[in-house]
Amino acid sequence: MSNQTRFLLSENDIPRFYYNVLADSPVPPAPVLNPITREPVTPDFLSAIFPMEIILQEVSQERYIEIPEPVREAYKLYRPTPLIRALRLEKALDTPAHIYYKYEGVSPSGSHKTNTALAQAFYNKISGTRAITTETGAGQWGSALSMACRFFGMDLEVYMVKVSYEQKPYRRFLMETYGAQVFASPTTRTQAGRAILEKDPNSPGSLGIAISEAVEAAATSGGAKKYALGSVLNHVLLHQSVIGEEALKQMDMAGEYPDMVIGCVGGGSNFAGIAYPFLRYNLTEGRNTRLIAVEPKAAPSLTRGVYGFDYGDTARMAPIVKMHTLGHDFIPPAIHAGGLRYHGMAPSLSAFYDAGLIEAVAVGQRAVFEAAVLFTQQEGILPAPESSHAIRVAIDEALKCKETGEKKVILFNLSGHGHFDLSAYNKYLSGQLEDYDFPEDAIATIAQRLPQVSIPA
Ligand SMILES: *Cc1c(COP(=O)(O)O)cnc(C)c1O
Repeated sequence: MSNQTRFLLSENDIPRFYYNVLADSPVPPAPVLNPITREPVTPDFLSAIFPMEIILQEVSQERYIEIPEPVREAYKLYRPTPLIRALRLEKALDTPAHIYYKYEGVSPSGSHKTNTALAQAFYNKISGTRAITTETGAGQWGSALSMACRFFGMDLEVYMVKVSYEQKPYRRFLMETYGAQVFASPTTRTQAGRAILEKDPNSPGSLGIAISEAVEAAATSGGAKKYALGSVLNHVLLHQSVIGEEALKQMDMAGEYPDMVIGCVGGGSNFAGIAYPFLRYNLTEGRNTRLIAVEPKAAPSLTRGVYGFDYGDTARMAPIVKMHTLGHDFIPPAIHAGGLRYHGMAPSLSAFYDAGLIEAVAVGQRAVFEAAVLFTQQEGILPAPESSHAIRVAIDEALKCKETGEKKVILFNLSGHGHFDLSAYNKYLSGQLEDYDFPEDAIATIAQRLPQVSIPA
């Protein structure tokens, strides 16, 4: 068995097509509902905030969708990303398992979000959009989209949750360096923001409020501005399929096929990105790769949530979709994996989980940082707290192999680096990091907190 560490593709191997899992899905998609009428959304509702190209992708049943050449050109800055065999980690764990990881942290803004940011910026540009609005929490999505908008010559307005704006200024500086305008949300620029500030001038903001502001800014711009979302929606998951398509080729170079594919889940996009191309072969060629989604115990929408119709955002302005949810008004504890604090989950991923096609595990924050530190010390890369959820479960599976003596092949997605998260590492190392469990009393009330809908036939 060879000891090759890095499996590298050439520029020519950047995928030419996005893979759309909906073409192979055995479960029919649930309708998407207008948040006000609770009836299926009309194209008019969506076209007020999204360009037509994106709406068409959102509902497409085409198996393969060609990646536009200008997007492939931009991908060349960091794609194909490396697939790395974690030989040092394997040795430290003394496991017979083979552990591979796909490293998306090599993207200029440091996470997989650049994959969809570039695509969304391009489709907006060719649809005549002049400026994009979006929200960001800690800033990974905001920085990816800032770079993409700069590349395709559009302005970007970022509504950044006020606490992050004040306490985590470095990603804001990065966004501003790319040329984006960043506002501390709630702002006085929108009705939604002004209403919040009237009630509470010192509101710290929330992702839900920031989404409402960004959506309002686009919807009231007379068509000049459109809104972009960095996770959850079908078109976002579609763009992330480049991760898995490359990984398939790279596993082939390594002469192995994974027994399990692992990824962390916030809204589900990086997990879908690496897992759906493998799910395709589970569905169409009888492969049996285990696909494991890892969520934080603080926001366990798959393992503890309800599968039902719920609003995509706290302010109830986003469409109602069928998903695993903790309730749109659920406010998760302030864990350091900010990207995993969403109350819901991508509809396709929810449907596959419900159908038993993927698995899910919830892990606690301290166990995650323990895995992150071990990984950093063995592999050298300092992972994002979000990505470290996947590392935790990859390590747990490798340790199970140690017990059973099985030589399983484990592949996980390392969705980003953690260079902007060092204060969280400092907290962990100095013993100040808390563990949060899901507030048990909130479980009982989820179903009551969901909107009443009469599901159309
Ligand atoms: C945003 C983010 C996530 C969570 O989002 P998904 O849509 O579930 O992928 C995970 N990892 C990193 C590094 C992120 O920036």
